[in-house]
Amino acid sequence: MNNRTMETIRPRSVLSEMKPYSPGKPIWEVQRELGIEKVIKLASNENPLGPSPLAVSAIQSYVSDIHRYPDADTVDLRAAIAKKYDFTADQVLVTNGADELITLISETFLEPGDEIVVPSPTFSEYEFGANLMGARVVEVPLRENYSYEIQDILAAVNEKTKLLYICSPNNPTGTYMKKQDLHQLMDQLPSQVLVIFDGAYSHFVTTDDYCDGLELVRSGYPIIVTQTFSKIYGLAGIRVGYGIAAPAILQHIRQVKEPFNVNALAQVGAAAAILDDAHVEATRSMNAAGREQLYEGLELLGIGFTRSMSNFVLIELGPDAKSIYDQLMRKGIIVRYGAGWNLPLHVRISIGTAEEQNAFLTALREVLDAGSARSI
Ligand SMILES: *Cc1c(COP(=O)(O)O)cnc(C)c1O
Repeated sequence: MNNRTMETIRPRSVLSEMKPYSPGKPIWEVQRELGIEKVIKLASNENPLGPSPLAVSAIQSYVSDIHRYPDADTVDLRAAIAKKYDFTADQVLVTNGADELITLISETFLEPGDEIVVPSPTFSEYEFGANLMGARVVEVPLRENYSYEIQDILAAVNEKTKLLYICSPNNPTGTYMKKQDLHQLMDQLPSQVLVIFDGAYSHFVTTDDYCDGLELVRSGYPIIVTQTFSKIYGLAGIRVGYGIAAPAILQHIRQVKEPFNVNALAQVGAAAAILDDAHVEATRSMNAAGREQLYEGLELLGIGFTRSMSNFVLIELGPDAKSIYDQLMRKGIIVRYGAGWNLPLHVRISIGTAEEQNAFLTALREVLDAGSARSI
């Protein structure tokens, strides 16, 4: 007789310490759970203008060929990316979203006992990758107004440090590392440290003292710049991202990746999107105007926020933040609650269209008014 229970089946021990990723709540879930028809999602930094139209038509034309396996080497897309930013194709690696690249980097470079250094709060996937491999995460708290202090980062680096993550602009704070600081940091790091510069939001930056990391790859530093088609290009649903680095570094990662990691529709869609300057420009200018509109509305409500170089803004709502987040949801507006980043007094809101942001500001005012009425 089979008297075994499923408890005899043991996963790797590191899994017991892993926190699940908590994504922004999808629109359909709020519609289903709360019975609301009109839902506005400002929770996942998606493009409010929708996908690149050039990508949509490229995908549509390709659909009847999906019985074929995709190109395992993503030759056309790598060529398009390399051409756009003036690299060679062997300096580009395409992945199933930048998330996959972070996991692949972790699998390629981390062993139990190794350390990664991450400024904090930041994107949770870095920690996920390290935990998965049994490596230790060393967090470096950002300074006042979530600014980077490179001396703090350098002090956290030791001989066990394998990877240093710099997310700039940083998710969820919207702050960035100044160009001069990034250069200084690169010059002062010990030679065994590989820097992962996450530029997921670099296209939204509107300041001159920013560096998107690419010049550091060109200068031959040990750095991987990670990029995504999920944000400015509006292709989050088809999952495609990439890394730019020295061929010798990417070659290690290629040993770990699945052959067909990037699906065929993602490859043709991304290759079209990267040439869609009109869509990128429209998104960039809408986003910059949207940030100002949001700042103004928040100032009128007397709410604190951190100025952002990205397509989201971190807002401080105080001890009632969770309750305000829940009440906004009941009004059909999804934002991201900060607890996952150890920011229980905050929410992060993605820049939406002017109309979406007005709906958010109106709903927020109603929630705050109702709250102060109750406490009288
Ligand atoms: C959204 C995001 C990514 C990209 O994710 P994809 O897997 O490409 O959708 C990478 N890094 C940060 C910081 C992000 O916020």
